[in-house]
Amino acid sequence: MIIAVDGPLASGKGTISRAISQHLGIPYLDTGSLYRATGLALIDAKADPTDADRAGELAANLDIDAIDETRIRTAEAGLVASKIAALPQVRDALFKLQRDFALQPGGAVLDGRDIGTVICPDADVKIYVVADAETRARRRWKELVAKGQDISYENMLAQTLERDARDANRTDAPMRAADDATLLDTSTLSIDAAVAEAVRLVEMRQPA
Ligand code: C5P
Repeated sequence: MIIAVDGPLASGKGTISRAISQHLGIPYLDTGSLYRATGLALIDAKADPTDADRAGELAANLDIDAIDETRIRTAEAGLVASKIAALPQVRDALFKLQRDFALQPGGAVLDGRDIGTVICPDADVKIYVVADAETRARRRWKELVAKGQDISYENMLAQTLERDARDANRTDAPMRAADDATLLDTSTLSIDAAVAEAVRLVEMRQPA
């Protein structure tokens, strides 16, 4: 089975995707980490941040086993990611990697912004996870502060709105729910309740 989970930042899609992956015993790819790592690679290379060809080249040469999980999980890495994610050269370079991951025998769970619309329009289950911006900003702010990062809630809310707008308004593969996706609003749900609902959606599509 291929499971596509999309939605804006801190909607809960990562937690939900990991839970589905464990439930079904199939691998999970957090596709946001590819864009974050590409953005950091561009910074490390001291390249011009608007050099789309160079960004595409770095994306094409990304070693996913070498991604530094700590470095990519900062608010700055998220912001840089949302900028380079608007470049068609980057999206094209990352397409095959994601598509191959989805097509492995037994299937996979992928989360991102365009999984149900562009990477896996043929997914067996599509879930679009949402929550109001204040709730999402607060969740992400708490996570980052718990990791010792220095950021205010107000700044996190501003970044959330900025990234939402950039992701939703770009020309290439904008963030949006596929027509056949099921919406899951986690604004007022506990993690357990959100996961239970997502697993239920997957179970409904499981062959008997
Ligand atoms: O999911 P995460 O917040 O880690 O993603 C970082 C950024 O990468 C997003 O804001 C978005 O711009 C980009 N992204 C994307 N398509 C995906 C996954 C992430 O454009 N499939």
